[in-house]
Parts: sequence; C-alpha cells; structure tokens
Amino acid sequence: MSFETLRRRALNGPAMGARWSAVFHAPENFDDGALALALQEALEAVELQMSAWRPESDIERFNRAPPGVWRALPQNLLTVLEAAMEIGALSGGAFDIGVGDLVNAWGLGAGSRTPDSTMPVGYTAPTLQIDMRGLRARKFSRQRLDLSGIAKGFGVDELARVMRAFGLSSWLVGIDGEMRACGHKADGRPWAVGHERPGRDARELMGVIALQDCAVATSGNYRHVVEVEGHTLSHTIDPRRGAPLVNDLACVSVLAPSAMVADAWATALMVLGAEQGVRLARRLGLEAILVANAGDLVMSRDDARAGA
Ligand code: ADP
Ligand code: MG
Repeated sequence: MSFETLRRRALNGPAMGARWSAVFHAPENFDDGALALALQEALEAVELQMSAWRPESDIERFNRAPPGVWRALPQNLLTVLEAAMEIGALSGGAFDIGVGDLVNAWGLGAGSRTPDSTMPVGYTAPTLQIDMRGLRARKFSRQRLDLSGIAKGFGVDELARVMRAFGLSSWLVGIDGEMRACGHKADGRPWAVGHERPGRDARELMGVIALQDCAVATSGNYRHVVEVEGHTLSHTIDPRRGAPLVNDLACVSVLAPSAMVADAWATALMVLGAEQGVRLARRLGLEAILVANAGDLVMSRDDARAGA
C-alpha cells in the first residue's frame, strides 16, 4: 500500500506506572478504537502476569509459593523468566531478577521498606528450573523475583505483536522510553528516537537513534531515581554490593531485535559500569551506547558495529 493512501495516527494510554504510545500509518478508514483497546488489553495481560505491584500477579503468586514445587505458569511469563535468567548468566549476575528483597529493603519497590536488620546477607543469584513444554517452573531458592527490569520491554514487544496482528507495517511503539519500530516513516526515513543528554533537569538531546526494525531501551541513573529518607538512590541494585548502584555511567542505551532483550541488557551494562560494560558489549556484539557521568560517550553505536 502506498503512503499516499495512509494517514499518520497516534495513540497512547496508561501502562506499568507510565504511558504507552503508538505512532503509525494506517488507511483512512482504519479503526483506531479497536487497536487502542487491543494494545491496552495486551499490556494488562502482561501486568497480570509480571507486575510486582499487583499481589495477585502470577509472578507474585510464584514468589509466595514454596521452593521445590512445580507451578503452572503462563507461556509469556516463562519466556521472560528464561530470557532474564540467560541475560543474568551472560552478564555475570549484573542483571539479576533475584533482587526483589533488596529492592524492597532499600525502599525502591512495591513492597514496604523493611528495616535494615532484615537485609538479605550473603546474597546469591536465584536458581530456577523452567519447563517451557510443560508450561511450568519451580524455584530452588527463596529470593523474591522482580521482573521490573525486563517486563516493560516485554510489554513493548507485545505492543509490536498487536500492531502486526492489525496488519500494520509502519509504526513506532513504546512504553516510557523503551521503543520498538517497524518499517519506515512516510518520507522513507527510518523511525528515530531522541537520545537524551543525561541530566536531571533540562531535556537536551545528544543525538537521535534511528531504529530499523528493532528496539531500543535506556537505563539511566539520572532520572529514574528514588528519594528515600532524604537520600537520592538509583532504583537499580548492584547485586554484587547488594545496594543501589553508584558507578561511572550516566546512562546506557541498547538496541536489539526485541525490546525485552534491550531492556534487560541496558540495566545489565549500566550495572557493569564503563570498563566492564564496554568489554562485554563488544564481546557479545551488543549494539550499545554508553555515556559516562562526566557526559562523554564511552561507547557509541559505531563502535558496537565495528566490533571488538
Ligand atoms: P531502567 O529504565 O533504569 O533500566 P528499569 O525500569 O528497566 O530501569 O528496571 C529497574 C527495575 O528493575 C528496578 O526498579 C528493580 O525493580 C529492578 N532491578 C533493580 N536492579 C536490578 C538488577 N541489577 N537486575 C535486574 N533487575 C533489577
Ligand atoms: Mg531496563
């Protein structure tokens, strides 16, 4: 279908404590309302499975289940758990969904802040057995699993799935800065998102990130911060220290075929810091952009493309 017969449209709504958005090209008589409803429903389904903020979500029920016992879980949740465990291993534990208790202990999450005396000590990563065929999983450890560092990305992939199901082939969808694009804009150019210069106040751009049938996620210590008893804390936990992250990076953006993978890797590289983050991104061929606290680019997209 030629672009002359298509019209640019935009939709948005609430999702995961933020907002989802979709910009797309569709025929004149396209039913925006039906699409908006389907997008909203797909995200609601993700939250029912993966939200730490809903006590009855599948992940929270799994958290309350005893170790060692198989539990039936929905396929999407198992997919996210499997990806999370894999990226956890590949990142040497920098990405770690077992940080749920630490997140609460530091007052950064859905749970109420627990006194310091209940802080987990001698922390180790969780162990899980995932049976994709049997649609079940069991855990061997007691850590509270927290999917907040990957579920938003998966939500964006769900938006993408719905866009395709509606026959759309030119769109940019996202939740709160995690974006995924398909096709190109009416002028033939790729979809692009702004790469914000780190800094808490002014929203200035460092450049634009062109997206060609891929996703981008950004993790940063400059805007997603939490005020706890007068202290400004990163909402990302450094699992090796068991404390909110403090290091030399201001933000990390990762491009990947899926937003789920981009989301988790952005958090992982952020935790690893400039030196280890760049080294691992090069070794694994991740397309990443790392910005140091001082504002300088320690890895650009071109570096990533050029490889090690
Ligand atoms: P960012 O946009 O900074 O990547 P996300 O929203 O993707 O942030 O993820 C942050 C959330 O992930 C935190 O609020 C917490 O629930 C969880 N989290 C914190 N530290 C880690 C970690 N090291 N690995 C995985 N998840 C984490
Ligand atoms: Mg993330």
